[in-house]
Amino acid sequence: MAVKLKIKDREKVEKISEILKSKNSFIITSHVNIDGDAIGSEIALFIALKKIGKKVEIINQDKIPSIFKFLPYSRAIKVFRKKIEINNFEVGIVIDCGSLDRTGKIKELIKNLPFIINIDHHLTNSEFGDINWGNPSFSSSGEMIYFICKKLTKINRNQAICLYTSILYDTCCFVHHLSDYTLDVIKDLISKKIEPEKIAQKIFYEKSIKSVNLFKFALETLKFDKKICSMKITKEMFKKVHAKEEHTEGFVEFLISIKGVEVGILFKEKENGVKVSMRSKGNIDVENMAKKFGGGGHREAAGCFFENREIEEVEHLIMKELK
Ligand code: 5GP
Ligand code: MN
Repeated sequence: MAVKLKIKDREKVEKISEILKSKNSFIITSHVNIDGDAIGSEIALFIALKKIGKKVEIINQDKIPSIFKFLPYSRAIKVFRKKIEINNFEVGIVIDCGSLDRTGKIKELIKNLPFIINIDHHLTNSEFGDINWGNPSFSSSGEMIYFICKKLTKINRNQAICLYTSILYDTCCFVHHLSDYTLDVIKDLISKKIEPEKIAQKIFYEKSIKSVNLFKFALETLKFDKKICSMKITKEMFKKVHAKEEHTEGFVEFLISIKGVEVGILFKEKENGVKVSMRSKGNIDVENMAKKFGGGGHREAAGCFFENREIEEVEHLIMKELK
C-alpha cells in the first residue's frame, strides 16, 4: 500500500517533481560536516535524476566520513575545490540545511544558480530558495526525499539502501523523531531487498581504533552537573591519536545514554573555533539553546559553532545558559 502524504506536503512533492522533470542539470548539496541523513538523501536523489536522464553532480564542502563509504555511488560525491565550475548548471538542490550558510563554502558556488530548491526537516529554516519544502515533522530529510524519488521513478535497491541509512541515522536507530510515515516508508524500503542489519553494522558497529583511543581521552574530561553531562575534545587529543572530526561519531549519544542525564554536550576544539553538539532526552529543548548561539537542529539534537573562541569560554557560556 502506498504511503499517503498530507495535502500540503503532497503539493510540495508534486511541484518539486515537476521542476526536476522540466529542468536538465542539477547540483545537489548539503551541510558542512555532512552526516548520514544528508549523504543518503543526496545519493538517492542523484540516482533518481540519473534514471530520468538528467545531468547531476553532488558537491559538499566536506569529505564523506569513512563509515558512509559503503553507500552506492559514494565515490561520485565531489568535495569543494576553488576551481569547480558549475555555471552551466540550472538548479541547485539544498538538502537538510536550515539556511544557505549551512552549506559552508558551497554557498558561493550555488547562490547564483538560476533556481534553488530547499528541502529540509529542521525546526528553523530560513525558507531560502525559489521553492522550499520544510517540515520538521519528518524524521529525516531522507524521508522527504523518499517521496520525491518515488514520484520521479520506481525506487530501486540502491536508493533504498541510501534512504534507509538516512532514516536510521537521523532517528538514532528509530529511537526518536519518528513521523506518521516512518514505519511505512521503512517497510517499503525493506521490501527492496536491502539488508537492514548490515547497514546498521556498517554505521554503528565498525568504530575505528582511532575513535576508541580518542574516546578514552575524552572520557577523562567527563563532567556531571545535575542532569547535564558534558565532555571535551581538544585539538591536542585529536592530534595525539591522529583522529579527525568523523572519529567523534556516537560520542555525544553516549552521554545521553547515561541514566539520569537529560542533556549531553560535547565540546570539540577545531582550527577556527569550538563546535558544540547537544543531545536531549526530550524534556529540555536543545534546539532552542543552540539557536541562541546562532546554531540550530531539533529538540533532541542540535548544535552550534563559536568562531575564534576558547573551549573553556564556550563551556562556561553554554553551562551558564542551560542553568
Ligand atoms: P551534530 O551535533 O550532530 O553536528 O548536529 C545535530 C543537529 O544539529 C543536526 O540536525 C545538525 O544539522 C544541527 N546542527 C549542528 N550544528 C549546527 C549549526 O552550527 N547550525 C545549525 N543551524 N544547525 C546545526
Ligand atoms: Mn537530518
